Amino acid sequence: MAVRIAENPATGERIGEIVETDLDMIRDMYEKARKSFEMWSSLSIDERLSYLKRLKALMVEEMDAIAKNISLDTGKVLTEALVADILPTVDSLDYIIKRAKSILSPQKRKTPLLLIGKKSYVEYMPRGVVLVISPWNYPLQLSVVPVISALVSGNTVILKPSEVTPFVGKCIEELFQKAGFPEGVFQVAHGGKEVGAKLTEEKPDFIFFTGSVKTGKIIQKVAAEHLIPTALELGGKDPFIVFEDANLERAAKGAVWAAFTNAGQVCMSAERIFVEKSVYERFLELVKKETEKLVQGTDQDADVGSMTSAMQVDIVKSHVKDALKKGAKLELGVNPDEWPDSMFVKPIILSGVSKDMDIMSEETFGPVMPIVPFETEDEVIRLANDTEFGLNASVWTKDLKKARRVASRLVSGAVTINEALVSVANPDLPFGGVKASGIGRYHGEEGLRLFCHDKAILLDRGILKKEVQWYPYKGKYQDFLRLLQSYFRSPRAWIPFLQSFLRLLKK
Ligand code: NAD
Repeated sequence: MAVRIAENPATGERIGEIVETDLDMIRDMYEKARKSFEMWSSLSIDERLSYLKRLKALMVEEMDAIAKNISLDTGKVLTEALVADILPTVDSLDYIIKRAKSILSPQKRKTPLLLIGKKSYVEYMPRGVVLVISPWNYPLQLSVVPVISALVSGNTVILKPSEVTPFVGKCIEELFQKAGFPEGVFQVAHGGKEVGAKLTEEKPDFIFFTGSVKTGKIIQKVAAEHLIPTALELGGKDPFIVFEDANLERAAKGAVWAAFTNAGQVCMSAERIFVEKSVYERFLELVKKETEKLVQGTDQDADVGSMTSAMQVDIVKSHVKDALKKGAKLELGVNPDEWPDSMFVKPIILSGVSKDMDIMSEETFGPVMPIVPFETEDEVIRLANDTEFGLNASVWTKDLKKARRVASRLVSGAVTINEALVSVANPDLPFGGVKASGIGRYHGEEGLRLFCHDKAILLDRGILKKEVQWYPYKGKYQDFLRLLQSYFRSPRAWIPFLQSFLRLLKK
């Protein structure tokens, strides 16, 4: 039985021990989940929602303790644990409690005239056992939101939280236990990539994965082998576009927050800042001034916490080194050659960057802000779209017509205008990426139906003895031809349509 020690990355302090799931136990977990599916999916949605209501009440009650656990396990500052990890989770619970019943109830569809007398609707059927695999940067919301979105329609769920933040994984397991979910409806498999791989191979009915492009591709391959549908929420290299007519002060403060919140370990972090040439120097001064004010640390008033994973610190270091080697200028921050042996990375601002540098082409996932000047709207759209990613983007200008025009041309899962990141905080907006940033959408209506099969139902009351298109066909062809031509002709030719229809009815 392997035991993983959870440590606070900011201090190195030991915070707990987590027993990892034995690979041999995984088949049993699926059996349990399949068995519980029969019971759970047969409950009414109100009955299932009663468990989510208990979970929400518990999270509200224990909010302070949860925030502290998240902060200890990730090194993020307490305010961010509360506002960026707990808030979106509880808000999603709230949304699901209020909206799931109408979103998941059968939806009436139009029935064409040629199918007269029938009714059509779509029903949302749970998929079965859903596997959720989550990352470490927002370990609560990126686990709990997909889990509750899957549970509400009647799926049972196995969650594999990240091994980098195992303490939060344990905390989630305990929360669901306390909320009293029935045995086998929600299970947590603790461990690293071996546990994740084994869970994927055991043929869940749906895989919801959040993590890197590299792992997403591995999972998609395994899923393809068994035709398992997936949703993949992957990385980003989000553009942040500042036009000369923007509220520059707001844009600068927004850029500093969007680049450095959670120490830059945000999938939709502002990783490429494009600024119109006429205001470039002024903007650069403003972001430097704002960044200098940031307080790093672990106490309640700190702005920027530590990084969470030592491996990520190495990636950030190598991206900055590569940029400096290729001619970028360090506008603010410490040269990586002089970084102390610490998980705290001082925010960095770089100018003179270009596409051949890793910092402009690969996901950095750290507190680095590379800034690039541009001259025209067309140029900046081309630059912003010139990436393999497409998760989020932001546009800053007071000209809302221009903002909407640019937003429409960005190849991206979401765009915020004069705002950053917060599209993810609206539980009614779909969330997900295009290109290498992912496949599928969760949050909103899309996010609840994602975990369902859309079942088409066509209903006839069964009163007529037969239908015109049934056998025998003898003598019907000419009448059908006239019926269809008169029906589809523009304008519709009603008299021949009705004549041929009545003739067909008699045959
Ligand atoms: P990762 O891909 O290394 O790990 C994610 C999860 O996958 C972990 O739980 C890990 O144990 C598991 N895993 C690893 N190998 C596996 C395998 N072969 N089979 C099954 N599971 C496996 O990612 P990470 O470092 O934890 O997270 C950072 C990445 O996540 C970044 O790229 C970031 O952009 C992305 N991310 C995306 C979103 C989004 O919503 N689009 C949100 C947060 C993070």
